[in-house]
Amino acid sequence: MTTAKLDSLQIATLAIAGLLLILSFAISTPWFAPIVTLIAAAAALIVLVRRSPTFQFAKKNSVAAGAAGDSIFTPMRSNVTFKRVAGLKSVREELDEIVDYFKNPSKYKRFGVVLPRGVLLAGPPGVGKTLMAKAIAGEAGVAFFYASGSSFAHLYVGVGPKKISELFATARKHAPSIVFIDEIDAVGRTRGGARSDERENTLNQLLTEMDGFESHSGVVVLAATNRIELLDDALLRPGRFDRRIEISPPNLSDRKEILKIVFNDKPHSLNLAKLAEKTAGFSGAALAALANEAALYALRRNAEKVGQSDIDAIKEKVISLKKSGEWLEDDMREKRARYQSAKAFAAKRLGAKFEAAKLAGEFLPDHNNVSSETELFALLCARLAGIAWWRFTDEKGANFCESDGAAARKIAERYIAVYDPFDDEGGAQQLMKRATKTAIDIFDSAAIEKISKTLLENESAPFEVL
Ligand code: ADP
Repeated sequence: MTTAKLDSLQIATLAIAGLLLILSFAISTPWFAPIVTLIAAAAALIVLVRRSPTFQFAKKNSVAAGAAGDSIFTPMRSNVTFKRVAGLKSVREELDEIVDYFKNPSKYKRFGVVLPRGVLLAGPPGVGKTLMAKAIAGEAGVAFFYASGSSFAHLYVGVGPKKISELFATARKHAPSIVFIDEIDAVGRTRGGARSDERENTLNQLLTEMDGFESHSGVVVLAATNRIELLDDALLRPGRFDRRIEISPPNLSDRKEILKIVFNDKPHSLNLAKLAEKTAGFSGAALAALANEAALYALRRNAEKVGQSDIDAIKEKVISLKKSGEWLEDDMREKRARYQSAKAFAAKRLGAKFEAAKLAGEFLPDHNNVSSETELFALLCARLAGIAWWRFTDEKGANFCESDGAAARKIAERYIAVYDPFDDEGGAQQLMKRATKTAIDIFDSAAIEKISKTLLENESAPFEVL
């Protein structure tokens, strides 16, 4: 209806504009022609611009963002409590204060204590950042506002900043409240560089809103990111996201707790402690998906309970879906531990740095961040040390050397390009052979077994204790 009406309006205006133009040539008064031409052109321009898809889209968005009052950011009441969150003890301790502040604001006011305005939760996907934010709102019993950083990223000028001020105005209206901005890096990336004026304006608006908070406004902003290194420094300054909390993937005992929670409402005959051991590197979200998919599978076969066969049927699907974790049966777990230990041992002895050896997942640094010849060669040896260990001990291989092999080739090529451009010893292949031999020459079986034992028990071993 609206489109047809406007289309005829557009045609009518253009027709009148054309008529005026013809008239202007017909009438010979000197001032008439330019003025009428100007009016006709302006009318045609206004109608065309107003009908353009860009204008219509921007208008629609700004109406949604502006006039809606509470309509695009509605306060939610979270029914999540800390009981639903497993592990993350230290995270919880840091955030307990915020819950207490919301529950007893007068206590804090009396002592003139100012709470952080913004808390940044940094960690890989699926580790419970959103869950934790909801739990804080649930425990404190305050309004919860959810927004995703990408929802502020608009191509149309002014929409992003407008949405930000709308969000904060609504949160203030419903204070005490918690604003949670997921994937804040979508708006909070370092300004400059590959410029996007609209994103910069949106970020500036966010900074302005945070600066404009009264210290007791009753609004606390929580934000989540898995790319903290991309964030603009201005966001991390005092008075903004000045408290940062790192959330790591769950360790063995955390995974056991998460599994208890996600299987709590599902009849099952599983040994959850054993399941936790087999799911090294799984995020909380991957474990939740594992439980859900297994329950669906059990339902499909009309089973009374979720059993191990249901887990076996869906585990690979969950790993590829969630891109997280490795499935390690007992024998593979031990094999993996020895493989990783050999890598960690060679890396440390030969001079490569890292924080801690891990049973699952990457722990060696990215070779692009390594700038000394010794360390680059050490890294090459370390990448090949797991495979070298199998040769050294005659152990049969497994399928987890693929990514190390590929990484080793890249390191070898870079090493030759940077430190040995006139290489006449056979290129990357020969260099990799030399690195494998170097690793084998320094192997100390007792030391590697010791690291391996620690990895089996704790799934990680700090650099200092290796
Ligand atoms: P993130 O925000 O870090 O990407 P989420 O909070 O969205 O992760 O987690 C997704 C789901 O994974 C949660 O809804 C929950 O079912 C499960 N989960 C993740 N971490 C935990 C945890 N620590 N305790 C219990 N469940 C968890």
